[in-house]
Amino acid sequence: MNNFQYTRVKSPATAITELSKNPAAKLLAGGTNLIDLMKYGVMSPDKLVDINRLEFSDIKRGQGTLHIGSMVRNSVAAADATVLEYQPLLSQAMLAGASAQLRNKASMGGNLLQRTRCPYFYDITADCNKRAPGTGCSALEGFNRMHAIFGASSSCIAVNPSDMNVALVALDAVVQVSGPKGNRSIMMADFHRLPGTHPELDSTLDKKEIITGIVIPDNAFAKHTTYLKVRDRASYAFALISVAAALEMDGSTIKDLRLAMGGVAHKPWRLTEAENFLKGKTASVANFKLAAELAMKGAKSYGHNDFKLKLAPNSIIQALKTASGVKA
Ligand SMILES: Cc1cc2nc3c(=O)[nH]c(=O)nc-3n(C[C@H](O)[C@H](O)[C@H](O)COP(=O)(O)OP(=O)(O)OC[C@H]3O[C@@H](n4cnc5c(N)ncnc54)[C@H](O)[C@@H]3O)c2cc1C
Ligand code: SF4
Repeated sequence: MNNFQYTRVKSPATAITELSKNPAAKLLAGGTNLIDLMKYGVMSPDKLVDINRLEFSDIKRGQGTLHIGSMVRNSVAAADATVLEYQPLLSQAMLAGASAQLRNKASMGGNLLQRTRCPYFYDITADCNKRAPGTGCSALEGFNRMHAIFGASSSCIAVNPSDMNVALVALDAVVQVSGPKGNRSIMMADFHRLPGTHPELDSTLDKKEIITGIVIPDNAFAKHTTYLKVRDRASYAFALISVAAALEMDGSTIKDLRLAMGGVAHKPWRLTEAENFLKGKTASVANFKLAAELAMKGAKSYGHNDFKLKLAPNSIIQALKTASGVKA
């Protein structure tokens, strides 16, 4: 690990000043991803700006919204009574991630910005455009079992590893940020990027900005939500495929719904076409199969991850069955 300076800030303004005067500085939240990356030599910030004392730890109701501060720990948010009442899908997704110990440290802001788990990104001897732009992508012809089937480019086929992000994109969450130019809100769907020719950039957050919180608009999905995560082990493993499904039912009719997938793209992947198809339709396995077919349009695999082309639609169907209560 390289030498680095450490400072603990007491106000968001000081954090923004630290980021503004030093482009090589990084914010330190729970440290469960950043410190690992520093130990592996993947990231080498010369200054850590500790934001653990900032007052971004509130969970509160607004007018038709739920606000969660960026320093709220994943375990706290997942167990919070208001989150469970208004946004149970978020709680389910967070509890599917990592382990209890990690969730006790992991913050909402850090989870949003956790980096990919592509093995070549972590191996500093391998070519990797995300870690070292212009060197190539070892995963294209290499071991790409965990990798993308949507939205990839010839520069990078990595996936966003977060479970929480899949629920947030399904729920139309908004990320609140603060920077030298003031405050702004970024729709969750626009927060993460596709790799294109710049896979080194994971998000649209400016380097000088800090995430202050996440806002989720109210919805009528609470009774019919499922986060399905398919992985190699029952816990402590990243998703091969995950599906966030949230339905508003009127008898057997799907009045409204949200669907998103994880483990398939460089960003949490919203299934808008499948949503549009199912809206107003009867909840049935036949309709779920048609929706899954629509969701898979344009999917492309890279060898070791060919199995995702079957696993993904099956997971969509299963998540919809569980969320709707449709059995056969
Ligand atoms: C063994 C292991 C298994 C895991 N399994 C899963 C899993 O199954 N599913 C899953 O979703 N996750 C999993 N994780 C990842 C874990 O959820 C993340 O490491 C965690 O959420 C990161 O949060 P943190 O607060 O520790 O972030 P940090 O490591 O402190 O920071 C991560 C990044 O976010 C930036 N950052 C943090 N807060 C802010 C802010 N407020 N504003 C701007 N930038 C900020 C930091 O500068 C850094 O670049 C796993 C991690 C480990 C180590
Ligand atoms: S998939 Fe992306 S992260 Fe993985 S080796 Fe290729 S460029 Fe690097």
